[in-house]
Amino acid sequence: MQDVLVIGAGLAGLTAARVLTRAGRRVRVLEAGAEVGGRVRSRRVEGFTLDAGFQVLFTAYPAVRRQLKLDALDLVPIPPAAVVRRGARADVLGDPIRDPGSLLSSLTTQVLPLPDKLRVAKLAAQLRTPPPHTLLNGPDESTQDYLRRQGFSEASLDRFFRPFFGGVFLRRDLSTSARLFRYYFRMLMDGSIAVPRAGMGQISAQLAEGLDVTLGVRVTRLTSHPGMVSVATTAGDLEAREVIVATDPNTAQTLLGADTARGSLSSAYLHYAMPHAIDPQSRLLLNAEAGWINNAHWISQAVPGRAPEGQHLLIATVLGRPEVPDTELDAQVRAELAVWYGEADARTLRTLHIERIEHAQYPQPAGYAAHLPGHATTLPGVLLASELTSMSGIQGAMESGEKAAAIVLGDLAGMSRPRGA
Ligand SMILES: Cc1cc2nc3c(=O)[nH]c(=O)nc-3n(C[C@H](O)[C@H](O)[C@H](O)COP(=O)(O)OP(=O)(O)OC[C@H]3O[C@@H](n4cnc5c(N)ncnc54)[C@H](O)[C@@H]3O)c2cc1C
Repeated sequence: MQDVLVIGAGLAGLTAARVLTRAGRRVRVLEAGAEVGGRVRSRRVEGFTLDAGFQVLFTAYPAVRRQLKLDALDLVPIPPAAVVRRGARADVLGDPIRDPGSLLSSLTTQVLPLPDKLRVAKLAAQLRTPPPHTLLNGPDESTQDYLRRQGFSEASLDRFFRPFFGGVFLRRDLSTSARLFRYYFRMLMDGSIAVPRAGMGQISAQLAEGLDVTLGVRVTRLTSHPGMVSVATTAGDLEAREVIVATDPNTAQTLLGADTARGSLSSAYLHYAMPHAIDPQSRLLLNAEAGWINNAHWISQAVPGRAPEGQHLLIATVLGRPEVPDTELDAQVRAELAVWYGEADARTLRTLHIERIEHAQYPQPAGYAAHLPGHATTLPGVLLASELTSMSGIQGAMESGEKAAAIVLGDLAGMSRPRGA
C-alpha cells in the first residue's frame, strides 16, 4: 500500500508529490492524461514549440522560488512594457509597473494621459513595501472599481489595464478581485515575466523529475475506511493511507462530493506561422480596441528557438468561448491582424493550430476569497490540493500542493504559511 496517492499530475499534484517524496514518503501520482502538467504543457507542431494557450511564469511567485530550479528552466524574459495596438497604430508603452519612471520619459507615447502615468507611479510606491501576501487581505472590490477610485481615466483602463490584466485574469471587464490585482501588480514589480526556452511544459517536467507517475489512469471513486482509502481507477482498485485530490475543480467536485466547482473561464488561442518577420516586436501586443483579439505575442521574437530557423510564431489570445467554428474564428482574427499589418502580410500567416481551453482559470470576482475551500474534505484520509484553495494560477496551484503535503507531514510551518506567501 502506498503512503500517499496523488490524483492529478498538474502543478498542484506534482508539487505535493515532490514535497512528500523528498520527505521520504512512498508516493504515487495517478494522471488521467497522456502526459504530466495538466494545464501547463507544451507540444511540438512542425518544428514549432506551442504552449497550451499563452502562458507565462511570474518569477516572483514565492512557491515558484521555493520549488523550482529557475536556472535549469533556461528562462527567457518577455521584455517589459507592451505595445498598445489601436488598429494600424502601435504605441510602445514604457514599463508602467516595474519602471514607472519610464512612462514619464517616454514622451513619444500618447497611450496613457500624464496624470494616469503619475497614478501608476503612486500605485507602485504604495504596493512596493508591504509583504506581498498581505495584499491579498483588506477590503475587496472589483479591479475596475479600484482603478476608478484611484482616479484612472477610462482611456487608461481601455488601453492598458483591460487588455493587460485581461490576459492575466482572462477577463477583460476587470471584474476580478482588486486584492488579486494588487498582488499580481506586486509580483510584476518583484520579478520578471518569463518563459522557459523550451516551453512552459519544462516547468511541469522539472517538478515531475524523480516522481512515480502513472499516466493514462483515471480515478473514478474514493472510499474512506479506517486507516486507509480505496481508490477505484480505470486500471483497477488501489489503496493508500492518504489521498490527495489534485484534479481540476469540476472533477474534484465529483470525487469529493463537495461543492468545489467555481465555474470556468475559457479562452482560445490561434497559433500562426510566418515565413518572414512582419513585426519585430518581442513585447506583448495589447489590443486597446474591442474585437476578437485581447492580446498577442510574437513569441519567436522573444524566444527564437520556438520557431524553426527562418520562421516566426505569433500567438493570438481570444478570451471567452467564441461561439463560432474554428474557420470563422480564424477569419475574424485574421481580419484584425490585417488591420494591424495590412492585407498582404496577414494573408501570408499560416494557421498552425487553434486551441480552445474550456477551463483555463476559475472566475475570481470581488469577495471570492471568502468562499475558498480548505484542504480538508469530508472523506477521512483525503485532502484537496488545488488552485481552488488559494488563487487561480501557478502560485495558487503550487502553494496548494505544498500545503496539502505539509498537512500529511504534520509540518506546522508549511501548514500555517499564509496564502500568497
Ligand atoms: C491558457 C492558460 C493560461 C494561463 N495563464 C496563466 C498565467 O499566465 N499565469 C499563471 O499563474 N497561471 C496561468 N494559468 C493557470 C495555471 O495554468 C493553472 O492555475 C494551474 O496550472 C492549475 O494547476 P492544477 O494542478 O491545479 O490543475 P490542472 O493543471 O488542471 O491539473 C489537474 C490534473 O488532474 C488530472 N485529472 C483530472 N481528473 C482526473 C482523474 N479523475 N484521475 C486522474 N487525473 C485526473 C488532469 O488530467 C490534470 O492533469 C493559465 C492557464 C491556462 C489554461
